[in-house]
Amino acid sequence: MLPLPQLLAELVRRPSVNPMGRTDIPTDILYELRVTAFLEEQLRALGCAVRRQTVRPGRDNLIATYTPPNPAPFTVMFEAHQDTVPVDAMIVEPFGAKVEGGKMYGRGTCDVKAGGAVMLTAFARLVKEKPAGSAAVTMAFTVDEEHTFLGIQELLKSGVRTDYAIVAEPTLLNIVNAHKGVVRWVLETQGRACHSSRPEQGVNAIYRMARLITVVEEYAELVRALPPDPVLGPRTISVGRITGGVSPNTVPDVCRVDIDRRLIPGETAESGATHLNDFLKAKGFDFPYTLTQSHAACPPLSPALSGELVKRLGSSIDSVVGKHTVHPVPFGTDASTVAGAGVPVVVFGPGDIAQAHTKDEWIDLSQLEPAAEILFRFACGK
Ligand SMILES: [Zn+2]
Repeated sequence: MLPLPQLLAELVRRPSVNPMGRTDIPTDILYELRVTAFLEEQLRALGCAVRRQTVRPGRDNLIATYTPPNPAPFTVMFEAHQDTVPVDAMIVEPFGAKVEGGKMYGRGTCDVKAGGAVMLTAFARLVKEKPAGSAAVTMAFTVDEEHTFLGIQELLKSGVRTDYAIVAEPTLLNIVNAHKGVVRWVLETQGRACHSSRPEQGVNAIYRMARLITVVEEYAELVRALPPDPVLGPRTISVGRITGGVSPNTVPDVCRVDIDRRLIPGETAESGATHLNDFLKAKGFDFPYTLTQSHAACPPLSPALSGELVKRLGSSIDSVVGKHTVHPVPFGTDASTVAGAGVPVVVFGPGDIAQAHTKDEWIDLSQLEPAAEILFRFACGK
């Protein structure tokens, strides 16, 4: 295996941009295939079992397994996503992997090619050294984490299960054991278009929406006042965008708002929608409207399952860097989908989430070696 900074540079130089619903991304930087091919080559060179799992045409998860010579004391999955967010407005060369002052710059350096590189490094060392008493490890590189979580969903649907899982995201070598979930909805009202000089002949979809939004604002207060999660705080709802109408002289026939709802453990996208729908219904509006989920939901991550895993990984971290924190984060990850399959899971990796998705994304290279060492020791039960 290449030394860590070179391995990371190879990954960064291979674009794997998730279009995230857009259609204007050049095809030569689109999707994960270049990264998948490189990772497959690396894994095959180790001589371990490797398989591709096609999630969408040209978008494959990659799964490799390490089986120790001894009966495995436990099984663990290392999971990292292969995709990155787009590169618009970046002020550093997105695929240049330039190193300066101990930092490497480029899209995905921090989120989360560094995390993937350290997992691969720890995995390769296990395969090579076959340390006595080590765990069985499944190394999974998934697609589409940045948009609709298709890769991790497909992986779990295919029956991959381990005693523990560690999901790579930048945590500054700390343990993240909880986050809220998120679901996005579109609320839509219909009307009937006509010329604005005779507005009484039409039905104004914007007026209808105005009445609905006032009620959603009222609902936002109510949702916030519901019992909060002891760690993650209150559930929230926010109206983020409104669209409707074509011109000042046309009565609008449609109006839409985009709604963002943050879920706490115990809630699902469906239970959240039912709760809002019931509230709206009780107001007895005299016109129709629809509430539709617009993106795949990210479920909330509860710390309930991961106590033992936090202890084990925590002692591996302490043995390498001397200290760690265990905390929740405000952003969603693949971990909650893993937890949804009943697998104890935490989020761990090098780098700071503050640098993820930024115009000069970078990673502190001094975090790489300790991160790989921590994962190796964890798999050795140390
Ligand atoms: Zn990420």
